[in-house]
Amino acid sequence: MLRIGLTGGIGSGKSTVAAALADLDGVTVIDADEIARHIVEPGQPALEELAREFGSDILLTDGRLDRKLLAERAFSDESATRRLNAIMHPRIISEASRRLDHAERNGAVAGVYDMPLLFETGQAEKFDTVIVVDVDREERVRRLAEHRGIDPADARRRMAAQIDDEERRNGADIIIDNNGPLTALEPQVRSIVAPIIDAERRR
Ligand code: ADP
Repeated sequence: MLRIGLTGGIGSGKSTVAAALADLDGVTVIDADEIARHIVEPGQPALEELAREFGSDILLTDGRLDRKLLAERAFSDESATRRLNAIMHPRIISEASRRLDHAERNGAVAGVYDMPLLFETGQAEKFDTVIVVDVDREERVRRLAEHRGIDPADARRRMAAQIDDEERRNGADIIIDNNGPLTALEPQVRSIVAPIIDAERRR
């Protein structure tokens, strides 16, 4: 199975590319953000650890996580953010690897790991191919405001916490340029990525 890491800055169109890849035959997409939500569901060990670290009042009366309160506490300073990451990142990594192995056992031709922080968490080397979805920063700010209602100052703050675009592009095996219209995105996935997956299928 070909292991593909898919990444890009916030608002670059990763989820859109992931959806186009999921439509290709034999491709399984694993979504790091979905795993991050799954591992803090009631009954999951990460949730208990978060409550021990950040206070049991981050649990709502029905046992679910109060995301807003956790975010307030975990992003208040760098050491708190590090403690949050120390709980979350190893679990996200091991669950992603478990899901990729499962896809391989089930005969997937390619397993795509959609992960915003692929480089930041040092995971890029684990993949056969790294795809970076690239869009100019201010265009991403504009799209996030227009489509997701994210305040531009907030978007820029989140971008500042990620590696810069140049560094991300340097780590790419394949760059998908999503500065153009949405209609140009899927054809790129088909012309650039589909042939690699077809080659893997024929191996
Ligand atoms: P990411 O997962 O990288 O944060 P998304 O795939 O959610 O990004 O894309 C961010 C927003 O921009 C979405 O609302 C998406 O529909 C929109 N979008 C993606 N590509 C384009 C494009 N080429 N032109 C305009 N809007 C786009």
